[in-house]
Amino acid sequence: MILVVGGAGYIGSHLVKELVEKEKVVVLDNLSTGHRAAVDSRAIFVEGDLGNEEDLQMIFKSYPIKAVMHFAAYSLVGESVIDPLKYYQNNVASTLTLLKIMLKNNVKNFIFSSTAATYGIPDVELIDETSATKPINPYGHSKLMVEQILADFSTSYGLQYVVLRYFNAAGAHQSAAIGESHNPETHLIPIILQQLLGQREKISVFGSDYDTEDGTCIRDYIHVTDLATAHIRALEALLTGKKEAEIYNLGNGLGYSVKEVIETCEKVTGVKANVEMADRRAGDPARLVASSKKIFEELGWKAERNLERIIADAWKWHQNQTY
Ligand code: UDP
Repeated sequence: MILVVGGAGYIGSHLVKELVEKEKVVVLDNLSTGHRAAVDSRAIFVEGDLGNEEDLQMIFKSYPIKAVMHFAAYSLVGESVIDPLKYYQNNVASTLTLLKIMLKNNVKNFIFSSTAATYGIPDVELIDETSATKPINPYGHSKLMVEQILADFSTSYGLQYVVLRYFNAAGAHQSAAIGESHNPETHLIPIILQQLLGQREKISVFGSDYDTEDGTCIRDYIHVTDLATAHIRALEALLTGKKEAEIYNLGNGLGYSVKEVIETCEKVTGVKANVEMADRRAGDPARLVASSKKIFEELGWKAERNLERIIADAWKWHQNQTY
């Protein structure tokens, strides 16, 4: 049985939908940002907090957990600058509690959601796992701290782990049964689609004077179902003993500017966007694009869904959003 912590959240719920096809799954989520309705009905759901030792003990005593996948984190760069305590408390301290209780129960396989924000402002075009990690905000620091904890626990306690550093997760399940739903929404693609649906007046482009071709920031968008597939590959690699301690980037290897994403949304939906140029947002690097060569070479995974597909699936979801 696999414990998915944060399995009611955006990425966690998409992973659960794939994982229930192969494994029995228990989801732990405090529903602070997740949605009960997003959890596949084939998974067991426990409402509780990963920082609560009793909630965790109950799960490890009740179910034969062989691995833990951990998605339960705060993930907004701007918020982390305003309220770093919230980020270090949940993303670091509560994760430490989870690891402690796992080890106490002799569970030693762990998949951890990390982020491109661990790299800070990269000095290379394509970021690979050997690129320098120099976070520029508390969110990135909180994730990198856990990566360090995992490395030390691996050496000292035999913890086996895979860290997955996501670039820009986007899209929705192809069935449109689940998708992205944040409140407030801060991410680019949902904001554009909400505007195209008339739910927002305009789209603000945060900065048009970056050192990029069209002046707007470049990101590597990856379909949430591709992310889910990568987690399943990583889990198999741990459970079969193929891997013991690894870090992988998850991206498409292709960068799209904010302007290009807006244009692609217009093309896919056939609706014209109302766009304004705005000031830069604090903490945004100009360009973040992944090399995912390592995970392709070692686990045979690559992103299969392009930006058009990401937007088409997200569009289906946003037109019929149920939570
Ligand atoms: N962005 C924007 N307008 C918005 C939201 C985002 O111009 O309303 C830009 C943002 O500055 C960044 C890119 O879109 O360059 C992706 O931002 P998002 O918040 O989706 O993801 P992040 O890169 O912060 O993880």
